[in-house]
Amino acid sequence: MSDNSKIEWTEATWNPVTGCTKISPGCKYCYAERMARRLQAMGQHRYRNGFRVTLQEDLVDLPRKWKEGRRIFVNSMSDLFHAEVPFDFIQRCFDTMREADQHTYQVLTKRPERMLEFALEALEGPWPPQVWAGTSVENADYKWRIDMLRGVPASTRFLSIEPLIGPMGNLDLEGIHWVIVGGESGPQARPMEAEWAREVRDQCHEAGVAFFFKQWGGTRKKLTGRILDGRTWDEYPLSLPKNRLTSSETSFSNSIRLATQV
Ligand code: SF4
Repeated sequence: MSDNSKIEWTEATWNPVTGCTKISPGCKYCYAERMARRLQAMGQHRYRNGFRVTLQEDLVDLPRKWKEGRRIFVNSMSDLFHAEVPFDFIQRCFDTMREADQHTYQVLTKRPERMLEFALEALEGPWPPQVWAGTSVENADYKWRIDMLRGVPASTRFLSIEPLIGPMGNLDLEGIHWVIVGGESGPQARPMEAEWAREVRDQCHEAGVAFFFKQWGGTRKKLTGRILDGRTWDEYPLSLPKNRLTSSETSFSNSIRLATQV
């Protein structure tokens, strides 16, 4: 885990679980798998099981120790709703997130059907407002995940459309508050066409949904950058407190104005 993440849309990562199994084409060149294998080779104790699902019991309480509020990406190295993570362990993570409410938590899964099951059948108490629920959708074949996410009673729901590996077509954005788009990065990155990203952006703005363009990706993502049509797109849902935004980021009402100025 790290309290100074390089991921563009978050500030810190918290990994009470590490390891995962591949579930759909977006997983093909999984960054978490590459990292886990590298850390295992380096002899890091947390990654002694490589990419096998491992509960990191001693990290369940970590965000309680971070006094200053942060945007925290939960399980950047795993999927909290993997079938091998028991509901009682997930509940303990939710206890931490409920009580350490100085933070905003970004929980992203490729298994929204299990997230929904947890929310409706196992979660003790209401879904905490500071916990954002998100799902990854890499192409049009996985749009059903958006329907699953819509059923999760979170006050902020978001999509990570990364890696975007095919056109999404029409999106039903009802009940969705934030959409991230990004191309794949890494040695075997699959290309993303600009039209695919624009199509998502334009639908977001028609639906009043904040849009964040993370990166073009590619084998050298620093060179390809994150400019789309002459500007960056760093919009956040209005539920994010203003003091959690940096000077270059905007909550959605401001970003509408910025977008029409250019
Ligand atoms: S769900 Fe996420 S962490 Fe798990 S294999 Fe796929 S990309 Fe990797």
